[in-house]
Amino acid sequence: MYGHLDKLLAEEKKKIRTEFNRLSVMGFDELNVVNTRKTTQDMFDRFMKENEALYVKAAKSAYKKAAETEKTPEGIAALVAVILGGYNLVTGYLYEKEAERKRLRLNEQILTAREYNDRQMFQDSLRRTANLWWTQTTQYGISVVDSATIQAYKDMGIDYAKWIAEDDGQTCATCKARDEKIYPISKIPSKTHYGCRCYLLPVKNDKEN
Ligand SMILES: [Zn+2]
Repeated sequence: MYGHLDKLLAEEKKKIRTEFNRLSVMGFDELNVVNTRKTTQDMFDRFMKENEALYVKAAKSAYKKAAETEKTPEGIAALVAVILGGYNLVTGYLYEKEAERKRLRLNEQILTAREYNDRQMFQDSLRRTANLWWTQTTQYGISVVDSATIQAYKDMGIDYAKWIAEDDGQTCATCKARDEKIYPISKIPSKTHYGCRCYLLPVKNDKEN
């Protein structure tokens, strides 16, 4: 279910690391107020663009896999826009607003570290922000794949889907309780935690229970 997404995420992880490494070797003399703002802005602009492209690819292949037919580029773009533009029950925030908050926080932390001439504080801030950005990037990837899959089932006229819990020995109680449960396609419950890779299988309309 998440195979293609994971491949795309692995590539993105390298890019994120490269971006933060590039920032981590910058000197405090370079990182004045104006330049710090420009550097973090440019970096997050690239992140946003890369992620959007990633989500479009992930949605496209998830849809194709579920429906065995392609959705139009406009349809895929609209689907991604809904996920990125809407309140997310797992993350508890809006994608773009949170990205901006992360950037502003990083910006502030860099300037504070610079003020105290503390390279360690600087490196810690970068590491923390990289991890947070990685978590956000991954979680929205999962949401996009889930949404594309559900849309594909809907477009195929499927009315019910079966929740399959990823049984990896650390499945949470909620996911375990939902395992094999059948839900109306319009009432699939939201995932409840980060990193949940439970997935949905289509249920033929005459097999509902
Ligand atoms: Zn789960």
